[in-house]
Amino acid sequence: MASDTKMIEKKSKKVLEVRKLTKHFGGLAALNDVDLDVSESEILGIIGPNGAGKSTLFNIIAGFFPPTSGTVMFKGKELTGLRADQVAHQGIGRTFQASTLFKQFTVFDNVFNAFHMHYRQPPWKALLHTRAVRQEEGTMKQKAMEILNFTGLASQKDKLAENLSSGYQKILAISIALATNPKLLLLDEPVTTLSPHMVEAVMGLVTKVRDTGTTVLIIEHNMKAIMDYCDRIAVLAYGSKIAEGLPREIGENKEVVEAYLGVMG
Ligand code: ADP
Ligand code: MG
Repeated sequence: MASDTKMIEKKSKKVLEVRKLTKHFGGLAALNDVDLDVSESEILGIIGPNGAGKSTLFNIIAGFFPPTSGTVMFKGKELTGLRADQVAHQGIGRTFQASTLFKQFTVFDNVFNAFHMHYRQPPWKALLHTRAVRQEEGTMKQKAMEILNFTGLASQKDKLAENLSSGYQKILAISIALATNPKLLLLDEPVTTLSPHMVEAVMGLVTKVRDTGTTVLIIEHNMKAIMDYCDRIAVLAYGSKIAEGLPREIGENKEVVEAYLGVMG
């Protein structure tokens, strides 16, 4: 099984290459010389204690802020230096640790707006109400419904986002991220605080997303979700990558258990 996985890894294309990534906040090294390679259609788990630098890694990949040094390559092109909206257009979607839904909007409108923000025509064109604009609106509505069907939210499309259960709010956040048609999806703690049943639902969806050819990076403290669903795991502690491997290897890694898993128990 393990050797099979390794063979698949060798054959598959690298989607993300992180090299010597370092981020200082004042005197604090939030990330320190981190290297990471992620392949096409892989689910990579990122674990580590609070303050390890996990969200900082996502923020740099997503162009939220620049690194102090180091590079991020996505599909062979340098991302470092691009703004967040430019990174999104390259095909990187993300969800945040804290929910960023429009809570007073319906489920449908949350996804539809995401399309709008990503694909909309220049405002002067929309003002003309041309047939092309109306057609584009129709296409975006259809695509928003396709996403809701895919993520299992279609039957709740007219509910206000604030009235969804916390698990379905996480699924809505993923639905919104899918509107940019990402080739790489960054999920920051998508199942933290959820019931075991909803953890399975969200991680099942993550697997389904991966099966469409999207690479997924997932930060999580829920060890069952990480161990059961990730192809590989990288472990961060104090800004450094201290281990990387198959779930079984990470579970048996003494340093990891001491630095992290032991503390969790
Ligand atoms: P994790 O997600 O692994 O819990 P973070 O990446 O959020 O860790 O944080 C790593 C370290 O960097 C922490 O000490 C945190 O306080 C600090 N940090 C994160 N973001 C900022 C910021 N925007 N400004 C200053 N310090 C930050
Ligand atoms: Mg975090």
